[in-house]
Amino acid sequence: MSVRVVAIDGPAGAGKSSASRALAARLGFTYVDTGSMYRAVGLLAKERGIALDDDPALARLIDALRIDSAGERLVIDGRDLSAAVRSAEAGELASRVSTRPVVRERLVALQRAIGRRGDVVMEGRDIGTVVFPDAGLKVFLTASPEERARRRARELAARGEPADERQLAADIARRDRRDSERAHSPLRPAADAVIVDTTGMDLATVVDRLTALAETRWPARRV
Ligand code: C5P
Repeated sequence: MSVRVVAIDGPAGAGKSSASRALAARLGFTYVDTGSMYRAVGLLAKERGIALDDDPALARLIDALRIDSAGERLVIDGRDLSAAVRSAEAGELASRVSTRPVVRERLVALQRAIGRRGDVVMEGRDIGTVVFPDAGLKVFLTASPEERARRRARELAARGEPADERQLAADIARRDRRDSERAHSPLRPAADAVIVDTTGMDLATVVDRLTALAETRWPARRV
């Protein structure tokens, strides 16, 4: 492809968001967080009393939304949902609504439209496998379940949300299972993805590694 796309996939709590955001800043690319789109659809469905398996109603909901995802901000119909989508409840709703093909098809179309503008770091579960199978760089970020639960607990605590690490570990395991076993676009590394296990690595080390990979793919750029 002529546009430069970095696809970052992996399970919940592997450090994708922090690493993707920092990598995008280093490369001067746009950061796109696709999880927040699934989270927003889950939250809005709940708010409007739509069952998470009511496909026609979910399709109508998404088709009527004006989703504006630019950098850190997610604005839907003029309402800024950037903070609301970060709750643990939104994550759970996202994981459930994201099993519905009608939801995935619509959000994938939107993600492709954003990515086609080029120079993006796009983070999710299916970016390298489905959204941009010909992305120039694909990374599958992972970490041990214990480390992922610890990171999520720290993240929630920093936002003043109560965090029980054992509960989080159970939630993460359930989400991993649902994401990996779903029929449509299950979570798995693309055949040509570079697998990076971030267990025991700090953020700076992860970002250095990803930047080095990007420099290998696009040697002409100075990062
Ligand atoms: O990455 P994040 O935790 O924000 O994603 C929330 C949920 O949205 C995931 O557990 C997954 O079920 C879903 N998701 C997805 N495909 C993506 C991004 C997120 O199915 N590309």
